[in-house]
Amino acid sequence: MEQISVAAAREPEAIGRQVRVHGWIRTRRDSKGGFSFLEINDGSCLANVQVIADSQLANYEADVKRLAPGCSVTVQGEIKASAGQGQATEIHAQQVLVHGWADPEQYPLQKKRHTFEKLREWAHLRPRTNAFGAIARLRNEISCSIHRFFQDEGFLYVQTPIITTSDCEGAGQMFRVTTLDAAKPPRNQQGEVDFEQDFFRRPSYLTVSGQLEAEVFATALGKVYTFGPTFRAENSNTSRHLAEFWMVEPEMAFFDLIDNMDLAERFLKRLFRDCLEHCLEDMRFFNERIDNTTIHTLQKIVESNFVRLSYTEAVEILLGSGKKFEYPVGWGQDLQSEHERYLTEEKFDGPVILTDYPASIKPFYMRVNDDGQTVRAMDVLVPKVGEIIGGSQREERLDVLEDRMRQQGLDPEAYWWYLDLRRFGTVPHAGFGLGLERVVQFVSGMGNIRDCIPFPRTPGNADF
Ligand code: ATP
Ligand code: MN
Repeated sequence: MEQISVAAAREPEAIGRQVRVHGWIRTRRDSKGGFSFLEINDGSCLANVQVIADSQLANYEADVKRLAPGCSVTVQGEIKASAGQGQATEIHAQQVLVHGWADPEQYPLQKKRHTFEKLREWAHLRPRTNAFGAIARLRNEISCSIHRFFQDEGFLYVQTPIITTSDCEGAGQMFRVTTLDAAKPPRNQQGEVDFEQDFFRRPSYLTVSGQLEAEVFATALGKVYTFGPTFRAENSNTSRHLAEFWMVEPEMAFFDLIDNMDLAERFLKRLFRDCLEHCLEDMRFFNERIDNTTIHTLQKIVESNFVRLSYTEAVEILLGSGKKFEYPVGWGQDLQSEHERYLTEEKFDGPVILTDYPASIKPFYMRVNDDGQTVRAMDVLVPKVGEIIGGSQREERLDVLEDRMRQQGLDPEAYWWYLDLRRFGTVPHAGFGLGLERVVQFVSGMGNIRDCIPFPRTPGNADF
């Protein structure tokens, strides 16, 4: 007896084979002719396999007729051609073994449709729904595609720390890591909490970015990337922010901003193409049930060139748009989501890469332009989601970098190791960060990023 997945059992090539399939019941329907139809799903694909369970089965009355959504089973039987709609095959069961019952009175997914908000309360069960099965497979595809892309491009995968004592953005909003007693922390003579007695002997945090450490490896090994969990303690309850998310951060020696933009564009197109090619069944589901523009949008993006313009040009476009924005537009102000959406959805109808932002709104490590006012930053914006990538050419000049740190109230001494990269054999280099969940959100068309990660962590929610 051959053990196969539901996906394999649905293939016409499987017809005539004796197989065993494991999975969970999605539906049971009893026919008047003395048999039952079972729909079984095992997560290998969106679709179910249909099982015909005949009343001749020894446990037909005792087990089969009691099967309900959520029950787990193993079915043995022969795969035959199906006359039914939407399937080439069906399994004619010779044996149905029940592993676990799911009481229809209690099983939360008994009812067919729940809102995504409701399903968030059942993070432990929602992977059993069509939408979250599809999201899980899409996330898997994108993760693999990320690695394939960078490996094909000759990048080295490096792991950067999750616990850090440096704040990459030079701002707050980090989660503290400590073993001190919160109720009674030790205090120094000034009465402040004495972090010298903490585990790492100084204030430590969960990382907001692996960039600085990636630069260490890029300035030794050329082209590298990190891909791992990232944490932001911002109290922003939006549909695009998580407190814990996954970020991929390539960092490349001898790359300038143009090389960086070219790489980012090639990268996103490869991810979208892989989703269309390898996850077509799930993509069709998203297109039908979540956002009926997503497949067309991705196909169009893969074949077109991203619009590239400077922040200054974008501000001029916004000011000349005649639109009334909630937040005013002005040179020197950060762009708000509504501004980004105007550019990507109304003005250019596709991805836009904005470059050369005012130095005052960007971190210290971005390379200062000759005008002294702007830095070699780039943000890749896409319709609906807004910023999907943020990156820059890095400041490779020691003196300029130290000045920028002081301007932003950072102590260069604390970053001695980062400055050493400029002291010894400095090189032009560049990199960017892409949030995995923003990609999943954009590709699937999901309205809320909380539905794009298995266990979302947001302000007030880390239950499971
Ligand atoms: P935003 O302006 O959207 O808050 P950011 O400018 O703070 O993002 P970066 O520090 O540039 O973000 O991080 C790089 C990428 O990481 C972003 O382009 C985005 O794709 C992703 N990202 C950043 N913050 C979050 C978050 N809180 N949740 C999910 N993804 C995020
Ligand atoms: Mn950014």
